[in-house]
Amino acid sequence: MLAIETPLIVILLGPPGAGKGTHAAPLSQHLGVPHISTGDLFREHLRNKTPLGNVARSFIDAGQLVPDHLVLEMLADRVRQSDCARGYILDGFPRTVDQAEALDKQIAEQSTVIAINFDIPDRYLVERIVSRQACKQCGQLYNTQFAPPAQSGICDHCAGSLYQRDDDKEEIILKRLEVYHTQTKPVIEYYSQKQGMLHQINARGTKTQVFQDVLKACEKTQVMA
Ligand code: ADP
Ligand code: ZN
Repeated sequence: MLAIETPLIVILLGPPGAGKGTHAAPLSQHLGVPHISTGDLFREHLRNKTPLGNVARSFIDAGQLVPDHLVLEMLADRVRQSDCARGYILDGFPRTVDQAEALDKQIAEQSTVIAINFDIPDRYLVERIVSRQACKQCGQLYNTQFAPPAQSGICDHCAGSLYQRDDDKEEIILKRLEVYHTQTKPVIEYYSQKQGMLHQINARGTKTQVFQDVLKACEKTQVMA
């Protein structure tokens, strides 16, 4: 008999600074499916000054969400590419209940979906984010306080230069956290109502512990699927 595998979609939920981006990269390697960060996709549009980038810029710089229809169109385009056929990891999407519903109805049909919530109190987030840096060349994340590169300002992996995101300034972070609580928190509730789909992990553990928990959540679902 032919075994037909449905694509696996792993959704990483949690506030900005919870560690979704940090763990998405090794998880992508482990599962052999791409990591799709809507924030990264938008930053690419900003860099390339595309029409979408020009519209999205004002929302992103203000710490607000880009309107749902723009995000959905961008994501639908991305997941149509052939590397997503076996599944993918979503980081930064869905960020509203409407986005979650659209994912169910328009994008994730006939897929196995698992949502992993990175649970962490707000008080740890601002200090994590203000000291965050990313490599311009390969996207690797660093934290000048908690996970610094060997040489300040230079990527350990590719020697690219490190930069701080424009929206990682304290006053914009506070706005992003507020937006998270009002618009994105309800997404956790949305997945908690779907049997067996939501996995809670403690995002305050060490990097190794958190990654183990992420893998455990994925394994549970793959066994069930
Ligand atoms: P974070 O570090 O907060 O997780 P991201 O890199 O995921 O940030 O996103 C940066 C910005 O891009 C958000 O503040 C928002 O303006 C925009 N954005 C990213 N994903 C979405 C989405 N799913 N819906 C609306 N806006 C989004
Ligand atoms: Zn690099």
